[in-house]
Amino acid sequence: MYEAVIGLEIHAQLKTDTKLFCDSRNDPDERHPNVNVCPVCMGHPGTLPVANKKAVEAVVKVGCALGSTIARFSKFDRKNYFYPDLPKGYQISQYDMPLCEKGAVRVGARDIGITRVHLEEDTGRLVHGEKGASLVDFNRAGVPLMELVTEPDIRTAEEAAEFAKKLQMIFQYLEVSDANMEKGQMRCEVNISMRKAGERFGTKVEIKNLNSFGVVKDAIAYEIKRQTALLKQGEAVVQETRGWDEHKKATVSQRMKESAHDYRYFPEPDLPVLKVGVHEGLPESDAIDVDAICASLPELPDQKLARFQGEFGLSEKDAAVLVSQKVAAAFYEHAVSELLEWYAEASGKAPENAEKEKVAKLAANYLNTDIRRLINETGTPFGEMLVTAENFAELMFYTHQGKISSTIAKTVLDEMFRTGKDPSNIIEEKGLAQKQDAGELEAMARAIIAANEKAVADYKNGNQNALQFLFGKLMAESKGKADPKAGRELFIKLLQ
Ligand code: ADP
Ligand code: MG
Repeated sequence: MYEAVIGLEIHAQLKTDTKLFCDSRNDPDERHPNVNVCPVCMGHPGTLPVANKKAVEAVVKVGCALGSTIARFSKFDRKNYFYPDLPKGYQISQYDMPLCEKGAVRVGARDIGITRVHLEEDTGRLVHGEKGASLVDFNRAGVPLMELVTEPDIRTAEEAAEFAKKLQMIFQYLEVSDANMEKGQMRCEVNISMRKAGERFGTKVEIKNLNSFGVVKDAIAYEIKRQTALLKQGEAVVQETRGWDEHKKATVSQRMKESAHDYRYFPEPDLPVLKVGVHEGLPESDAIDVDAICASLPELPDQKLARFQGEFGLSEKDAAVLVSQKVAAAFYEHAVSELLEWYAEASGKAPENAEKEKVAKLAANYLNTDIRRLINETGTPFGEMLVTAENFAELMFYTHQGKISSTIAKTVLDEMFRTGKDPSNIIEEKGLAQKQDAGELEAMARAIIAANEKAVADYKNGNQNALQFLFGKLMAESKGKADPKAGRELFIKLLQ
């Protein structure tokens, strides 16, 4: 039996205002090519790079969050190679003195070790046009890129995808990167080899340019099959770089793997050694205050997950859906606190714990199913939807109070999502408030009983489904406005 040994290398574009070594804008949404460029990021001779403090601080932040050791001294190195998207003929990266080393990310019940996190500059982008011509856009050249390398601790395709998702969430929570894989703001490379359990590591293959979590999973699954088949036939795995072919759904050989000495790394002579933390005589403007950065980390996904379960009594699954998006989690918390205020105002006291959990679960359900559905159907980003936390809380309150039924709540929510109106307006405008008028309901129920002799007879013979049928008619006739509990009781009473 062979097992997979997997290590990931993940690049994330940092969300800074300017590039890593110059003051050209770092704008991932710029549509016009070659506007955010200057002599420094275009590699003109005689220009000098200056490190962007914000980018260094962002990597330190990630290091703190992952429990890494933050270097006191770090430096930049030149990685030399030729490619048309690399204006200087070398990339400024970090070789033997990265900003962060060690650390871990928990995935399920396992800790995946982090080898290092360092800072480097991104390359330009090649646009392959018609007639075989290629164009270069240098807007991205010199944008700060954080590279994170894991230990070969990952064992399955699922675990690799989970790890990458978790990391994406952490970057987003820390607000260091939007880490959108579709936009290329986060990119994954997979290193994978197979071995018999307990034996030494085998020869690894590197798979580059995987641009979604699904592709990470597919490429690993494919490679596990391919390498296992080779080894079973007594053949060797060749150390190489492979790519993912989306049409063939297969990894394909791209080139032999280069090694460090091919790049002739050497210390970047134009940048001083980076002093991180407290250093005597370091000017204030250059100081990277590691303690302050680590002390001001936001609540991270794992902590929030545990808190949502404890504080609101949510299931792990419900809490995980909310936590998976920082904006959704914030919206939820805001809505619940508003909802509890509505509650306290109406009843003159703060809710008991059980009651609090009940309303918190109600809000989580509507958010995770109905709002999710509307968001998916319309492709609206969560942060841009028209429903505010205040309005959502108000709607949940009416639902909780039984002022409107769950059917009506969904109708109102649809309308809120489309128009951004508040729920009380919609309910009033459309006359959707629950019909509490007992006389009117009873008249409706009597008419239904008279018109459905068979169902009435069935019910009297002990068929409970018949009651459900009659009640369904009442709901239909009242257009969902009948109070479900009162409606059912009404039939039981009338049919006694
Ligand atoms: P290279 O020198 O080829 O770049 P590194 O030692 O820097 O290799 O490791 C690069 C990545 O490959 C890391 O994520 C590491 O965990 C992973 N890795 C190293 N050896 C193996 C192996 N035998 N099988 C799978 N992954 C490996
Ligand atoms: Mg390496």
